[in-house]
Amino acid sequence: MKVIHDSKELQQTALALRAQGKTIALVPTMGNLHAGHASLMDEARPRADVLIVSVFVNPTQFGPNEDYEKYPRTLDADCEVCRAHGADILFAPTPETMYAPTFSTYITESACSQGLCGRSRPTHFRGVCTVVDILFNLAQPNVAVFGQKDAQQVAVLKRMVQDLHIPVEMVVAPIVREEDGLALSSRNQYLTPKERAAAPKIQAALQTLKNSIATGTDATEKLAEIFVNELSADAVFEPEYIEIVDNTTMAPLKKIEPGNTLIAVAVRMTESRTRLIDNILV
Ligand code: AMP
Repeated sequence: MKVIHDSKELQQTALALRAQGKTIALVPTMGNLHAGHASLMDEARPRADVLIVSVFVNPTQFGPNEDYEKYPRTLDADCEVCRAHGADILFAPTPETMYAPTFSTYITESACSQGLCGRSRPTHFRGVCTVVDILFNLAQPNVAVFGQKDAQQVAVLKRMVQDLHIPVEMVVAPIVREEDGLALSSRNQYLTPKERAAAPKIQAALQTLKNSIATGTDATEKLAEIFVNELSADAVFEPEYIEIVDNTTMAPLKKIEPGNTLIAVAVRMTESRTRLIDNILV
């Protein structure tokens, strides 16, 4: 496995591979790799001749009071995960090689990115779209793999690819969870022991909602109430949003429409102030 830090070097390498007729799969990450990221590599590996994994804590997708500085950076361990899951190239750039000092061009998706996380993180998806487009231009992938864990990110990026006619196939891999149901996330390590013990209730409450839907409840306000009641018993949870939306557009639904309905939540943990997201498809 080759490790590349420079953006021009990655682009030249990728263009040369494509000129030789090789296909490329890309898995973009912010590093601190866990089994969720590894599952994306496993999904991507058989889809192309060359697998590129990027590890980049992207400053433009963090808000001013978010965790950019303290976000865990563990490149040596990440190398091992990439190697073990068949990556050919690990791209680990610095912010300087990604963003020129004169950088002034951003991509703004203005429908799917407005609700849910977009409400409390108003510049987040602009940063995500911009960095993913840069990564696409550097890595020249035929296919890119993203996790359903970040369902709104998937919807926004799919819209970007469609709107801008970007020739990349978008593949989505299911959420990987701990045995107790907590969705794997690099931010789980911020949790206090009490928060970690309680955190699986988020997934349990989502499951309760899904069961309520199976037994015929279809009024979305009622479902949101069930979710908040489930969690509010425990003082470590401060629900930020619970929304029932169309999985493609992220537009709120008044009534459940089985097939393309997503229940998405964000919860602030009150001791460490960690923000966790999770979701379930109905
Ligand atoms: P991140 O490093 O958090 O930016 O995530 C990089 C990619 O890994 C994104 O496409 C995420 O959706 C995906 N991902 C993160 N956690 C999980 C998980 N628990 N299961 C599946 N995919 C995940």
